[in-house]
Amino acid sequence: MTSRWAAAWLPLGAGARGALAALVGLLGTAAAAPPRDEVVLHFLANEGYAIEAGGQTVLVDALHTVGRPERGELPPELHRRMLEGRPPFRRVRLVLVSHPHADHLDPEVAAAFLKRHPESVLASSREVLERLRRSPHHPSFRDRLRELPAAPATWSGGDVRVTAFPLPHVGSHLFPEPVLAHLLEVGGLRILHVGDAELADDHLAGLELRSRNIDVAVLPYWALVREGAPERMSRLVGSRKIVAMRLPVASLAAARERVKKAFPQALILSRPLESARLGARAPR
Ligand SMILES: [Zn+2]
Repeated sequence: MTSRWAAAWLPLGAGARGALAALVGLLGTAAAAPPRDEVVLHFLANEGYAIEAGGQTVLVDALHTVGRPERGELPPELHRRMLEGRPPFRRVRLVLVSHPHADHLDPEVAAAFLKRHPESVLASSREVLERLRRSPHHPSFRDRLRELPAAPATWSGGDVRVTAFPLPHVGSHLFPEPVLAHLLEVGGLRILHVGDAELADDHLAGLELRSRNIDVAVLPYWALVREGAPERMSRLVGSRKIVAMRLPVASLAAARERVKKAFPQALILSRPLESARLGARAPR
């Protein structure tokens, strides 16, 4: 199983040449589509990612506040690209939202996106769906909202399977509502995205993530730079690869160094539309 990673873990932003390099950082131009059997991860902003596989795309925490990229908001040009359905947003099959904080969900941004993308289903918690139902655009997408229950639950749509786990938010004394972590099965890979989860040992222990055979875990900075994080993540998550997200923007270089010290192989995408191939479909 590990052999496919050796060739597949290729950050496209690291000076790559050729057609796939066109995916990186070329806002406003036509990016080359990846081969159909590739799974490609695109960083958007904050904890927002697009996962492209088999000619379709899944968005996670992508439809949030637009404006100041230096604060982790969506760059306006990228937002236009999303609305207009230019690559990699041509066929967005599924939209996932971990929780309704503004840096993960702006209801008006999400509503406008769903109106423009009749192919998209949004699946999330009741709290997130309630916010979307208040939008004046709601009639145009009311049939495309799916509630993910507040307990470990699996939902399938087309080629995508999602298991959602509620987890405590980091700083839960200030933010008592849970976040939904998502385990996606897409393009033959299992990809975990945990949103703003605290990821304390006792939060993870009951989930038995190791036995879920996770290929890629997208994990927040705070969980990766704690004392003993490599051993804990190996024991409690056990993914083949780690993507580090939510690095503090104001001290990015130092934060990147801290992550790399603990997880030398971690992938860090920090520029909007910076992309990496996660691997090809593989039989299990
Ligand atoms: Zn939050």
